[in-house]
Amino acid sequence: MGMIEEQIKNHGLKITPQRVKILEYIEGRQGDHFSAEDIHNYIKTENPNIPAATVYNILKVFTERGLINSFEVNGRAMYEGRTQPHINFYCQSCGKIEDSDIHGDLNVIESNVKGKVLSSIILVRGICEECLRLEKESEIVSEI
Ligand SMILES: [Zn+2]
Ligand SMILES: [Zn+2]
Repeated sequence: MGMIEEQIKNHGLKITPQRVKILEYIEGRQGDHFSAEDIHNYIKTENPNIPAATVYNILKVFTERGLINSFEVNGRAMYEGRTQPHINFYCQSCGKIEDSDIHGDLNVIESNVKGKVLSSIILVRGICEECLRLEKESEIVSEI
């Protein structure tokens, strides 16, 4: 059994080829964030008849079991393989999502809630460095 199969089994799920493919895809791209459509489009390249509903269900079950992480941006569910606590930085200008480590540890969060923290999803909105730079450049050009 491969590592992906083992992970699925260890989370109490039945191993199916679609589950393996989807988890392999997400886990293999740590740091990337996907919509359900992204995943569906990828799976369709090998499995053209797979319904979107099947993909949604697999993503839902994976999220519930803690195999993957999910959060919403502008009403759209995004999925990622990185389940350890981290900061998702969403750029409102170009739409990309970048991961940042949390400096310090989970105790920082835990000291602010009443109870034990098991997982966290932190979403921060802003303008990424690249977009800030482009903004600056276009300001300079318009000044000339
Ligand atoms: Zn940006
Ligand atoms: Zn992330």
